[in-house]
Amino acid sequence: MHQGKASLPEPGNGSPDPRAAERRWRERVRLLSRIMTHPGGDTDAHLAEALRLITAYFGADAGVIGQVEEARMVVRYVHAPDGGPAPGERLPLDGTCEGLVLQAGEVVAVEACEGAAPCLEHAGLTAYLGVPLPVRGKPYGVLGLWFRSSSLGPAGAEDRSLLATLAGWIGTMLARRQDEQDLRRREARYRELIGSTLAILWEGDPETFAFSFVSREAEALLGYPVDRWIEEPNFWVEHIHPEDRGWAPAFCARATEECRRHTFEYRMIAADGRVVWLRDVVNVLAEDGRPVRLVGVMLDITEQKEAERQLREAEAKFRALVEQSLTGVYIIQEGRFAYVNPMLAEIFGYTPEELLRGCTVMDLVVEEDRPLVAENIRRRVEGEEEAIRYTFRGRRKDGRQIYVEVHGLRATYQGRPAVIGTLLDVTEQRRAQQEREQLITELEARNAELERFTYTVSHDLRSPLVTIQGFVGLLREDLKAGRRQAVEQDLDHIEKAGITMRQLLDGLLGLSRVGRLVNPPKKVSMDDLVGDVLVLLGGELEARGVAVAVQPGLPVVYGDRIRLSEVLLNLIGNAVKFMGDQPHPRIEIGVEDREGQPCFYVRDNGIGIDPAYHEKIFGLFERLHTGIDGTGIGLALVRRIVEFYGGRIWVESEGAGKGSTFYFTLPPPPDGT
Ligand code: ADP
Repeated sequence: MHQGKASLPEPGNGSPDPRAAERRWRERVRLLSRIMTHPGGDTDAHLAEALRLITAYFGADAGVIGQVEEARMVVRYVHAPDGGPAPGERLPLDGTCEGLVLQAGEVVAVEACEGAAPCLEHAGLTAYLGVPLPVRGKPYGVLGLWFRSSSLGPAGAEDRSLLATLAGWIGTMLARRQDEQDLRRREARYRELIGSTLAILWEGDPETFAFSFVSREAEALLGYPVDRWIEEPNFWVEHIHPEDRGWAPAFCARATEECRRHTFEYRMIAADGRVVWLRDVVNVLAEDGRPVRLVGVMLDITEQKEAERQLREAEAKFRALVEQSLTGVYIIQEGRFAYVNPMLAEIFGYTPEELLRGCTVMDLVVEEDRPLVAENIRRRVEGEEEAIRYTFRGRRKDGRQIYVEVHGLRATYQGRPAVIGTLLDVTEQRRAQQEREQLITELEARNAELERFTYTVSHDLRSPLVTIQGFVGLLREDLKAGRRQAVEQDLDHIEKAGITMRQLLDGLLGLSRVGRLVNPPKKVSMDDLVGDVLVLLGGELEARGVAVAVQPGLPVVYGDRIRLSEVLLNLIGNAVKFMGDQPHPRIEIGVEDREGQPCFYVRDNGIGIDPAYHEKIFGLFERLHTGIDGTGIGLALVRRIVEFYGGRIWVESEGAGKGSTFYFTLPPPPDGT
């Protein structure tokens, strides 16, 4: 390969033809002026035209402007009327003329030299003239002129410096083109950005609110062409919803006056009558403290507002339901109430505020049930169980215990685990149920007793009847036979049997009366009552020489005096009756404290009762000592009366000959009587 720079003749320096040199000089000036004064506008077209002129000036077959990229040259501009590389084509650099130019960093002319230069051969060139292209002072690429059929023309010092000048100028143009491209790209990006947001950018006058600019999305927003936004001076105010027109412009005006950036939400009316909700974020640009321009972004928030409205409505509906519910509703989080409805507060006797601020959940639970409640809350919060329904004992603000049934679900509230549930006060139901159960037990007991009763009554009443019938028969015979003494005896037997029957019937009558309240209950002094009964039994006690000891200061009880005296009468009467042959008969009447409750007692040192019969003797017609007068009704009656008043009666005795003590409890008078 031959670099022919040394072989080129220098024009004006020993040039054989001064006129030719002169002509060349003129051509150079024309070229430069044509290139440089080319009408502005499209830089690309300008560069293409410049390349055409340069190619023609140097008599080349092709002009190429290439950009170097990673050891290759990418063809950017080409002028090749008879064929050449295509724009965008990547040419090799290594061992080519372009490579030489880059290496040399200055104008390089390669003359034809018997086709031995591979750099020329590769493109079928016969000669080459090239110059490096700097862009903004940095190497960019190469401006190359290819000679195929034509040979390299005169490339003296002037032409070389002309080429260098042109390269500088092209570099400047390429830089400008890059700037233009950058700008276009940036613009496109902004346009894309603005176009992709639903926001409308606008610019307006701080005094009149007339728009000087609105982005094209405004058209889609309200359906009015952008021109109308800008041309109608009152477009904004006139299209604000009448309900917002009163405040929104005034709000904006005040903030603008104070040069304050502001955000507000209002409605506008679209061309088709639709109501469009907007959020307007307005920046006030000021100079010397005075607003000069408003720049804002409007966002269409109609859907969001609609969703908010629906949510608000739904919430209002559910809130009303919950607030008015007859069931307690709560949300528990970290041991405290995050929400309670008024009913829940009412159930526990608090106000909702007291429960939300001052109380923990456990404050509403009786101590014994706290572990149960804590465990049930834990199981739901930790996800072991989704829903639990159970009953616990709650404590009201006034200290009263209530039964509550809860049904709680695991939930998430404000992003954290919680329990949401409903609660019912079931105290009344519980009480009713307990009463019902008690009633059923009692009824069953009564039924059983009634059966026993019917049986024993018919049995016990039959024996005096049988006696009467028997003696009536005997009486008839004795009368016929005129046995006067026998008649008397028969009549005695009949009379006795009659008395027995009467006693039995009286006893039964007394028993049947117990359940019916004859007199309303009132305070009764046990002291007085015992005194009265002892007077009644005075004769018997004296006849048997029984010593009676009464504990002074017996408490006052509550009940029907007559019924209560029947209790004492029977117990003291039995004590006298079942004294046996005790040489020092003694009865003690008093009261003992048993488990904090006063227990009255009637103690004797009589024949005693075998422990096997301690329960049995309270049954109707149950008698252990048939040789002794009696009906077996007394203790059954006593038990009925005591139990009617809510008390209890039982006997304690170590057995035969060891005496007996009958204990019974009676309720104290209720407060305020
Ligand atoms: P009654 O006295 O008419 O026999 P009660 O119902 O009063 O009937 O008493 C039932 C039975 O209990 C008596 O028959 C008697 O065997 C026994 N009993 C009652 N009180 C005493 C007592 N204080 N000591 C020993 N046994 C008694």
